[in-house]
Amino acid sequence: MTFKEYPYVRPDLEQIKKDYEEVINTFQNAASADEQIDAFDRINKVRSNFLTMQALCSIRNHIDTTDEFYESEQNFFNENTPIYANYENQLSKSLYNSKFKDDLEKKYGKQLFALIEANLKTFKEEIIEDLQEENKLNTEFVKLSASAKIEFDGKTLNLSQMGPYAVSLDRDIRRSAEAAVMGFFEQNEAKYDDIYDKLVKVRTRIAKKLGFENFIELGYARLGRTDYDHHMVANYRKQVERDLVPVATRIHQDKTKRLGIENPKSYDLNISFKSGNPKPKGNRDFLVEKAKFMYHEMSKETGEFIDFMIDHELLDLEAKKGKAGGGFCHFLPEFKSPFIFSNFNGTQGDVDVLTHEAGHAFQVYSSRDYMIPEYHWPTYEACEIHSMSMEFFAWPWIHLFFEEDTDKYIYSHLAGTITFIPYGVCVDEFQHLMYENPEMKPDERKAVWRKLEKRYLPHKVYENQFLEKGTFWYRQSHIFSVPFYYIDYTLAQVCAHQYWIRNYENHEKAWESYYKLCQQGGSKSFLNLLDFSGLKNPFVDGTVKEIAQKVLEFLDNFDQSKIV
Ligand code: ZN
Repeated sequence: MTFKEYPYVRPDLEQIKKDYEEVINTFQNAASADEQIDAFDRINKVRSNFLTMQALCSIRNHIDTTDEFYESEQNFFNENTPIYANYENQLSKSLYNSKFKDDLEKKYGKQLFALIEANLKTFKEEIIEDLQEENKLNTEFVKLSASAKIEFDGKTLNLSQMGPYAVSLDRDIRRSAEAAVMGFFEQNEAKYDDIYDKLVKVRTRIAKKLGFENFIELGYARLGRTDYDHHMVANYRKQVERDLVPVATRIHQDKTKRLGIENPKSYDLNISFKSGNPKPKGNRDFLVEKAKFMYHEMSKETGEFIDFMIDHELLDLEAKKGKAGGGFCHFLPEFKSPFIFSNFNGTQGDVDVLTHEAGHAFQVYSSRDYMIPEYHWPTYEACEIHSMSMEFFAWPWIHLFFEEDTDKYIYSHLAGTITFIPYGVCVDEFQHLMYENPEMKPDERKAVWRKLEKRYLPHKVYENQFLEKGTFWYRQSHIFSVPFYYIDYTLAQVCAHQYWIRNYENHEKAWESYYKLCQQGGSKSFLNLLDFSGLKNPFVDGTVKEIAQKVLEFLDNFDQSKIV
């Protein structure tokens, strides 16, 4: 069967309700652990079906936004997901309070119960109205940023259409593009401040109602973080500031020298080479053919994986009329199928889909046999290890995609993984300070942001006065939508760097460890996954320093004359 033939049937909510009630009832009256295990296995089939139909509907709705059938099915899910979430909440409570919990833990592992515990902490009926307000504010933020109509280059453009001008090789264009984009944010300054202020306050109110001191611990629980806290994260940020920021600064200095720019400004930071960014040398069919070749040479497992994706038509890659924007990787549990959605546009991002998104897909393909949906994916910081490491495992074949631009790709890929980390950490510390001090005024928030930028991104010099005030964070949607999520990308990166190093030392061993990590899916917590794979913990002193030095060594030995 190909993806097109995967049957969609709208979930029958009345039947689902009965199934949940029956199982919860069995849980309460069970005389043995086996009875509960049977009941849980029964409901997992129902859960798996609901999740599969939801994902199938969402993917088909994204592929063709003009298809009326999936549009109305999408509305069905939007309306009914909260009802389903309520059944899930009841089921979680039954599992958590089971008199046979020890037996269930033996059968399904501790992580399921750790996740349930974190999740139960995040909800009480008293907060429903506040949650609705939080959702409304999130939607307002998305709408506000989507409303941008920027007059530029004789056209009216939205924020993402302004993207290419930010990487123009013409410095004047970059400068005026930055000014035009920030003009939009300046016009809407009061609105952004107001939305953020309300978000901080409603989240703080929710946290207090749930018995937390402030939103920070709740934010961590929402992300399913079961084995680390904000003190450990603070120690990681300290390492980044001390051991990695100087390396990032060096990379920026080398770059501006290469570009021949005397007094680099913020709008110069997005370009890497005088000759432009590396470009893939072909269209979709060309790139997929190369990816197929690469994954067959990489390992037996990746070869099977890429054949499965191609044979079942689980890749929708090209931009098309009526197709939604963006890119993602989904999973359809009943068909044990990952799905990759993207919008190829001829840039380096096309190859990233075939390495990074394919890394996510390969992981979930490797853990597809778990019966419990919770175990298909790990928490976010662990998810990104698989994708970011795959970007590195792909290096020996990357010339197939980039040909004469290969050196530029290798250098800028690795350099970019380092320069990104201080920014990610800056975003994270900002949020901790905001939720520790929810009564801060908008101008105080901006001053905090600018101060943090100076510490973590000392090379960032603004010409634009509105940015100098401390407003760049308006552009970082995670700060508004999913608090404390952003640092996950940097934590994963530090782990992926370790696979980059291990792959040089011994490819067979590095690959074996990576594959086993993928097979674990979400059955373990972040730190337990690191332990399982022998990866060094980013929260522990010394981890960041070792990586920063190895990367710097590699970049220093790179022949810069090859990359102009
Ligand atoms: Zn990713």
